[in-house]
Amino acid sequence: MHILLVHAHPEARSLNGALTRFIVGRLERQQHSVAVSDLYAMRWNAVLDRADRLDIDPDQRFDPSLDSRDAYARGTQSPDIAREQDKLRRADAVILQFPLWWFSMPAILKGWVERVYAYGFAYGVGEHSDARWGDRYGEGSMAGKRAMLVVTAGGWESHYGPRGINGPIDDILFPIQHGILHYPGFDVLPPHVVYRTGKTDVARFERICAVLGERLDTLFTTPPLPFRRQNGGDYTIPELGLRDDICPGRAGFCIHLAQR
Ligand code: FAD
Repeated sequence: MHILLVHAHPEARSLNGALTRFIVGRLERQQHSVAVSDLYAMRWNAVLDRADRLDIDPDQRFDPSLDSRDAYARGTQSPDIAREQDKLRRADAVILQFPLWWFSMPAILKGWVERVYAYGFAYGVGEHSDARWGDRYGEGSMAGKRAMLVVTAGGWESHYGPRGINGPIDDILFPIQHGILHYPGFDVLPPHVVYRTGKTDVARFERICAVLGERLDTLFTTPPLPFRRQNGGDYTIPELGLRDDICPGRAGFCIHLAQR
């Protein structure tokens, strides 16, 4: 199998750098091939703007969505975007590896998503009508591929528990796991989160790698998070609300996960 690892940390000698090297080594030992997009090392341009469309008229008003659509359709995207899209097409699984910064991904990784996820590639895919709202949330161009987050956080695990002050980690990661990964069709695996990073020494790093190693060995067999499919019958069309008879009276992120 072929895995794309997208890594977002500015320092190779960091904990995240060490985790990325461990991930590559472990996957290659399992006879997988691995491509790494090391965003800081690549000096990835995180800013979506009119330069993303090579054939844009200088006098034309730039529309981030429509110009993305036209550039994708006409093959006039900035080459760095097209290269990352090719890496995604080739991958059977994608790992996003990053430190939690301000309760989300580092800006450079968000910018990778914004620019690489073009209209027609990651959104605006499939039939859009009164009866169908496109191929997304479980369907789309990434259907059949797996994705997993490997995240480090300075906070303690209890800070991210069900009643922890930071909010539950599943809620914090929901916009990434559901909005960025499930949306274009990935099967999303449970995340691997390393907490309390300041307390890492050689012995703890070995324990972290032992657990992470098992996750990597089961990358293609671990059951994905049971996010509901948009076109699976659980949502009303075109309102796209969860049917009243499913999780009645409840709201929040958790209702979009089917009970196992
Ligand atoms: P490093 O600082 O490189 O390392 C952490 C520890 O691991 C160090 O003690 C280091 O000596 C040790 N270590 C590194 N490599 C190894 C190795 N190979 N073997 C053994 N030990 C090793 N945290 C939150 O919880 N929530 C937030 O919202 C949040 N926001 C942040 C925003 C910003 C802008 C920043 C800078 C930090 C934020 N943090 C937050 C903390 C952040 O998540 C952690 O600093 C980060 O996850 C640590 O990862 P690192 O790779 O930078 O670790």
